[in-house]
Amino acid sequence: MRLLTSFGVTARAWTTRVGYCITRLLASLPKRCLLCQHWLTNNEDAWCDYCFSQYAGPWRACLGCDGALPIQPPIRCHTCRQTEQLMVVAACYYACHAGKGINQLKHGGQLVWVAPLAKLLLLRLNVLWNNGLIEPVQAIVPVPQALTSRLTRGFNQAEVIAHELSRHCGIPVIELFVARSKTPQQGLNRQQRLNNLRQVFELKESPTLKHIAIIDDVYTTGATSQALANLLKPYAVECQVWVLARTQTKSALQEHSRCE
Ligand SMILES: [Zn+2]
Ligand SMILES: [Zn+2]
Repeated sequence: MRLLTSFGVTARAWTTRVGYCITRLLASLPKRCLLCQHWLTNNEDAWCDYCFSQYAGPWRACLGCDGALPIQPPIRCHTCRQTEQLMVVAACYYACHAGKGINQLKHGGQLVWVAPLAKLLLLRLNVLWNNGLIEPVQAIVPVPQALTSRLTRGFNQAEVIAHELSRHCGIPVIELFVARSKTPQQGLNRQQRLNNLRQVFELKESPTLKHIAIIDDVYTTGATSQALANLLKPYAVECQVWVLARTQTKSALQEHSRCE
């Protein structure tokens, strides 16, 4: 019996050591940039510095409608300020090469895209925070996922992104909402999405915080974020929306000329 126990401990220890060695070996192998496929140096992770520099430029569009702004600040156009349009901070546009990585993250489970895109998002947030252009938030809140979706996909990408951001910026992640199953949103316009979502989300409990950021992977029509923000309105909670990518919609292009 003692021999068996001793063998079990020894086997477990060896398994741990072998696993550790394999991890170190893989970590020591040269890696390629996810975007340009050039070899990465030891100081680079997932993306090379050149690719970061290509994406890390200033965001010169309105944070509400994404229309062009002649100067920045302000960060929202006159129309968006008047209509209190939600402020959306995105790491990149979905149409760009980095945006395609989100598709691989969401539908292929390739979590390797989370860290560089979250880093890019934090770079943008730091610029906005350091210039006093957006309020600091007290918590980051992932968009909830219905149980059926979670079982199908195996993870909630919004939660993964939220925890990656929290690890770097120290803002806590809280779960404020729950979601029921819904008709898929793809292919629906904004009004159809809003109608679809009206019965999907609900609050877990009454919120006590006043400034939060809703985290999602992609901002398309904004229907999901708006549905969640509407639930918080009675509690006077101010919301920002942080996403890895936003799409450029037809309505945003039409709004373009109405921006200051
Ligand atoms: Zn690169
Ligand atoms: Zn605008």
